[in-house]
Amino acid sequence: MRGSTHADHLGVSLQKHVGLSAVGLCIPTGRVNPDQLDELARLADVYGNGEVRLTTGQNAIIPNVPGERVAGLLAEPLLKQLSPRPSPFVRGLVACVGTDYCNLALIETKSRAIALSEALHNKIGSGANPLTIHWSGCPAGCGNHQAADVGLRGFKARVDGKIVDAVAIYTGGRTGPHAVAGQEILETVPCDESLPDVVAGVIQSYRFGVEAREYAALSDPLFTAATTAGLASWRLKETQPPTGMPA
Ligand code: SF4
Repeated sequence: MRGSTHADHLGVSLQKHVGLSAVGLCIPTGRVNPDQLDELARLADVYGNGEVRLTTGQNAIIPNVPGERVAGLLAEPLLKQLSPRPSPFVRGLVACVGTDYCNLALIETKSRAIALSEALHNKIGSGANPLTIHWSGCPAGCGNHQAADVGLRGFKARVDGKIVDAVAIYTGGRTGPHAVAGQEILETVPCDESLPDVVAGVIQSYRFGVEAREYAALSDPLFTAATTAGLASWRLKETQPPTGMPA
């Protein structure tokens, strides 16, 4: 059975093999250039056993790094670009390929996703809890926009007589044993300079809603009793609101 927690494998994790660590590096939206790939391979050869593993979150892991070599790896210049400790708005960022390589795409996704996350970092700050932000460039949903705390689905909209890039915004999606599809909360948001303000507002109200539900659940004597008896997952499922809770 799948666990109730999700690990993104970023940062340094001890492996089951004594003395070895895995170092997870964040690749914003999964896009790397050839020089970065060459350097990633070199680091895997120098510090690990030559293996690089790719994750569903579009990131990379260098496994089998001896403990005494971890500090050297963390000091490598490439890790300034592919950070093991990224911004909370980049850490869970996923974007489909968008107009760059997909004939079905309705909007550009990857560079727009990075620009939005940088703007959110500047607005909300680096101390925020990580949250997942997924972009899909069309309704096909290859970016799994309904499986994220905040999802964006691109399309074309007519605004003041002009055709512009726009997104519908979803919140509350999650995977795992209590999977919930994100719900659309904003139908048409143009991808212009107002987008960061709109999404920042969505995040603040989403977090407030989650905290309020968690507080209500913990104040519920049935929930407390179920937790004590090891039945919290049952109770959580019963009490889960339609919008879900972040992983
Ligand atoms: S979601 Fe749409 S735009 Fe993105 S990769 Fe899939 S088909 Fe292409």
